[in-house]
Amino acid sequence: MEALVIHAPGDLRIEDVPTPQMGPQQLLVRVRCGGICGSDLHYYQHGGFGTVRIQQPMILGHEVAGVIESVGGDVTGFSVGQRAAITPSRPCGLCRYCQQGLQNHCLDMQYYGSAMRMPHVQGAFRQQIVVNPAQVHLLADGVSDAEGALAEPLSVALHAVRRAGPLVGKNVLVTGSGPIGALLVIAARRAGATHITVTDVAEAPLRTALKVGADETLNVGQDAQALARYEADKGFFDVLFEASGNERALAGAFAVLRPRGVIVQVGLGGGPMNLPVNTIVAKEFDLRGAFRFHEEFATAVALLNKRLVDVKPLISATLPYRDASRAFALAADRSRAMKVVLDFD
Ligand code: ZN
Repeated sequence: MEALVIHAPGDLRIEDVPTPQMGPQQLLVRVRCGGICGSDLHYYQHGGFGTVRIQQPMILGHEVAGVIESVGGDVTGFSVGQRAAITPSRPCGLCRYCQQGLQNHCLDMQYYGSAMRMPHVQGAFRQQIVVNPAQVHLLADGVSDAEGALAEPLSVALHAVRRAGPLVGKNVLVTGSGPIGALLVIAARRAGATHITVTDVAEAPLRTALKVGADETLNVGQDAQALARYEADKGFFDVLFEASGNERALAGAFAVLRPRGVIVQVGLGGGPMNLPVNTIVAKEFDLRGAFRFHEEFATAVALLNKRLVDVKPLISATLPYRDASRAFALAADRSRAMKVVLDFD
């Protein structure tokens, strides 16, 4: 079978790799769709992000859906031909954090397509993959494989929303309108937010934010003062989801966030940020991180299956995996693409 292997920045190869061997407690899945994520792009463009660098060839990808091709003898509840979204989250289940239900902080996490550890964890941009039953979340008829592939980034958004606390009746600001920002709009609305403003420095991603239900979008690239109207009376927004990883976006929101506001930092920045900490003190902000997810994957698939969320407006294009270079170039162009999906069929 073939897989998409990153060797160095810009050096992404389609390679023959051995078909993985399935154990009696596992399933073999034929991958049909894979979404290109920002982290895949970082590996492709820069060889990594922050201190994380590719040090050995690695199969990319962690947002996939496919069809069950074979079921291990000890596995019950699944059958050949069923379609499923596959969670890339593989915590050990044994460490202290897993035992406390904090699987996203697992001490031995084997998250697909991640160079955070050595040897790197191989990813899911491949024609076949062996998975554990806990990773398999069946898709309802009518939910496409591409939508199923978006269960992973939707899970990230759901986890961030959970970190924010109750959103019923809240005014929400989302800074950064990439795929995660747009999915945060969907997830925050589902959780009861009554007003959602989205900012970005580019026009095309803001159009997607409107399509998925934002009340308002503001281009802070064209007008740096676009948020100023919300500064009155110590601020308007109850919750900020910062999805750009940009210091100016985060610090720039402080003036429009009301006292005791909650900041959920979802975007990963390129390095240290300078923040007006005195404002955090004086306005009593809660500054929280949100990293990956675990149980939210099942929620994401349930929401997709019940048609309670619509992620289709995010899907910009579906390209054959053999056109990976073109697909990655497209995914990197924010004026043309939100989420680019690879077709492995
Ligand atoms: Zn663990």
